Amino acid sequence: MWTFKMFFQDDGEFFEYNPFGMQGAAGTEKALPFLESLLSFLELDPEDWEPLIQQAVSDLAQFFSAGDPTHTDHMMQTLGELTARHIYFQLLYLRYFEHRATKNLEPRMVEELRLLPEQLIAYQKQAQLFLERILDIDQVGREVRQNTQTSYSFDQPRDDSLFRFKPTPISFGAIRNDSCGEILYPNTIRDLIDFSLRECVRWEIPVRRCRNCGRYFPITGRITAEYCSRPSASGKLCRSTAPVRKWTESRRSDQVFQEYRREYKRRFAWMKAGKITEEQFAAWHKAAKARKKDCDREVLSLDEFKAWLKDS
Ligand SMILES: [Zn+2]
Repeated sequence: MWTFKMFFQDDGEFFEYNPFGMQGAAGTEKALPFLESLLSFLELDPEDWEPLIQQAVSDLAQFFSAGDPTHTDHMMQTLGELTARHIYFQLLYLRYFEHRATKNLEPRMVEELRLLPEQLIAYQKQAQLFLERILDIDQVGREVRQNTQTSYSFDQPRDDSLFRFKPTPISFGAIRNDSCGEILYPNTIRDLIDFSLRECVRWEIPVRRCRNCGRYFPITGRITAEYCSRPSASGKLCRSTAPVRKWTESRRSDQVFQEYRREYKRRFAWMKAGKITEEQFAAWHKAAKARKKDCDREVLSLDEFKAWLKDS
């Protein structure tokens, strides 16, 4: 029996699959940055994969009408080509690989494959809408759980065009790096989408459109990040090729320092003039350094830091 596993860890997502599926047997592992599989699935052009599925449908239908196994060979070759288009299609490949190997291909599978493109396109739209209405920080803010709360009644979306969560086969156990976590054993591509979206909600991870390439990226670090570090065709990362970003960053850190410095000098003068004690100054200095650090890490905004300095 084949296996296909997906789990999240740190800033990544991991896939392990094996057509023969013995637990612990060496399978193939694929690591991607967090949310990359879902985001790249949403960006897939049906033109790039739909004809391949139609080809597989026709191969399988011909197999049932003529009984010639070369048609199933060709079907597997076509499904193999699909796996190069997207990791999600690996699941489809493995299921059909198993059915064919155990001679369990059934006529109903022709219909299943035939309906697949329409379903996948519907999931693409529903998940895209989920990004726009629940996760897009610039459209709907960073309160991801609250956004979900208002858009769903239990697992049912209030708007039918939004993604529908369903019971999904999730297990739990040992994962990479001596750690533990949830492990998805997907039956369908829908399960993979479901697992990724709920991870964003659970950990309140919003998304934003990259200022350079315009694609969505997950905000797993600084909330003010404007450029993605997603894989791209050119091999260059938007984050490292965005000079504007570096400029704003250094400009901001100068501003933080100047605000801090100005207040520091003022308090220092008070202490020298005997208006406050040395202890009072030291306590303020310690607190201000901690706030400045928060501000440098952008946990605190510049305005919040200024307000604190003023009132401290
Ligand atoms: Zn980008």
